[in-house]
Amino acid sequence: MNRKSPFSYVCNACGRCCHDKVITLSPYDVLRLARAAGITTREAIARYTIRRGSILKFTDGGACAALEGARCGVHRGRSLACRLYPLGIENGEDGDGDKFVTLDPAAGSLGVYGDDGAVNDFLDAQRVGSYLEANAGCASLMAVFRERIAATADFDRVEPREFWRRAVREALAESGYDANPLIDAIFDVGGIGCAASGDAETIAAHLERLAEMIRGESNAELLAAAAVMLAVSIGQGPAAAHTDAEI
Ligand code: SF4
Repeated sequence: MNRKSPFSYVCNACGRCCHDKVITLSPYDVLRLARAAGITTREAIARYTIRRGSILKFTDGGACAALEGARCGVHRGRSLACRLYPLGIENGEDGDGDKFVTLDPAAGSLGVYGDDGAVNDFLDAQRVGSYLEANAGCASLMAVFRERIAATADFDRVEPREFWRRAVREALAESGYDANPLIDAIFDVGGIGCAASGDAETIAAHLERLAEMIRGESNAELLAAAAVMLAVSIGQGPAAAHTDAEI
């Protein structure tokens, strides 16, 4: 489906879709969650996420950590995936997100699918523009990562495929991972002094600070794990972190 494809969806606020999901979060998602809850990004990471801020937390009973009864407790700051539901987005390398798929309804859902409008109308109603823009900004950091990794990794000493396999394993581990200040900085936007007043200013400052940190880092393993984490968090595959020539 593209933006002009027929689509409509009426949410009847049953809360069923807020259970048993794996929802990947971007840095902007974490910032919006924190602002909606009136807490710092560090607190939002602890309260609402797992895997260092990159995945929304669900309780043992299967409910999202932000769900209050059948109501989203952070509705104004719900993530891009939550806003898009029941659409999924397929990002191109530039993060423009122009392809969409319809997801199956949650069991027992009261949501009503239809074709009374177009995908674009639904996206406008869900106000996803700032989320897509923020993700495109993060996508621009992938080139900074690739350049720095090329300058710091010793591919004569470490086999490139193994180097990237380790980076993916490290980025996607849910526990037992190494400390990585770059990954912390990716999600803890306020923690690196970038909580300016408006969202756009905050994200611009965050991107600038991250670029500085990437250029100042000389540990290729840390850089590669952070690059994979960022790529995945904005809906790109881990392969966006490296060039084909490297593997
Ligand atoms: S953040 Fe809100 S909308 Fe998204 S899964 Fe959790 S409760 Fe549901």
